[in-house]
Amino acid sequence: MKEKLELIKNNALEEIKNTSNSSEFESIRVKYLGKKGELTQILRGMGALSAEERPIVGKIANEVRAVLETAIEEGIGAIKNREKNERLKNEVIDISMPGIKQTIGKRNPLEQTLDEMKEIFITMGFTIEEGPEVELDYYNFEALNIPKNHPARGEQDTFYINDNIVLRTQTSPIQVRTMEKQKPPIKMISPGKVYRSDAVDATHSPIFYQMEGLVVDKGITFADLKGTLELFAKKMLGDKVKTKFRPHHFPFTEPSAEMDATCFVCGGEGCRVCKGEGWIELLGCGMVHPEVLKNCGIDPEVYSGFAFGFGVDRMVMLKYGLDDIRQLYESDMRFLDQF
Ligand SMILES: [Zn+2]
Repeated sequence: MKEKLELIKNNALEEIKNTSNSSEFESIRVKYLGKKGELTQILRGMGALSAEERPIVGKIANEVRAVLETAIEEGIGAIKNREKNERLKNEVIDISMPGIKQTIGKRNPLEQTLDEMKEIFITMGFTIEEGPEVELDYYNFEALNIPKNHPARGEQDTFYINDNIVLRTQTSPIQVRTMEKQKPPIKMISPGKVYRSDAVDATHSPIFYQMEGLVVDKGITFADLKGTLELFAKKMLGDKVKTKFRPHHFPFTEPSAEMDATCFVCGGEGCRVCKGEGWIELLGCGMVHPEVLKNCGIDPEVYSGFAFGFGVDRMVMLKYGLDDIRQLYESDMRFLDQF
């Protein structure tokens, strides 16, 4: 019996020595230590041994089992180690290779300037209102005192979806929508994209940004308009900026004006940016026309208000000295990286 155990041990160890992969180790384990394995068979047959022999043979059998189990575990461990080392060798990272540059996007100068403007009005207590870019003709024109066949329609080359729906040509419809759903006091700005079917050139783009503002309350006068817009100009362009108002005409305000600011480049002396004038036209404004208030369900005998609006693109171009509006929409990183 002892000799048989010794033989099994030596055979198994010999097989283990010549094994080079994990699945072979598994078959050796089954062959010797499995339920029908050679060693297991011997242990099963121990009943036939004498009482003196049984413990001795049992001890040797257990030793053989332990030796084989250890040898198999070590063999599998060695294979895993070898595989790991090979993997590490193949996955060496060459730290002398040039890195991959991560390019991080930036906000368009338009968006940056828009944020600055919003911030200025928010600190003055204005709310920011939004509205649809695909707009009803009623909100874009009629409610603003521009009925069909009004000459002002001719000045705004409009994209018509159908007779009653347009791409908004101005952000003014947001003012109407706000007045409809909100009772005065109203103090809002409406920044957003607007659309006109203009041919693209250095100063025209079919998409551009406007920002409009509206204040409606009891006892609002032209003095409130001037104070608010002068403060905006100073915060936007610097404390030294002076402003002046020229009479103008808009269908939705009465009286109407355009506001100029002293050129922020030359301070009023005259330069290339202001074309030698010393002044730059900044925005249009006026007291809200009583008809517009009435159209929105607000009694013009009780309430009054002022409104203003300007092209954001123009402000950005003035601020950064750009001479071509197309640069703002072309997504050219060589241009955008400068801001
Ligand atoms: Zn100037």
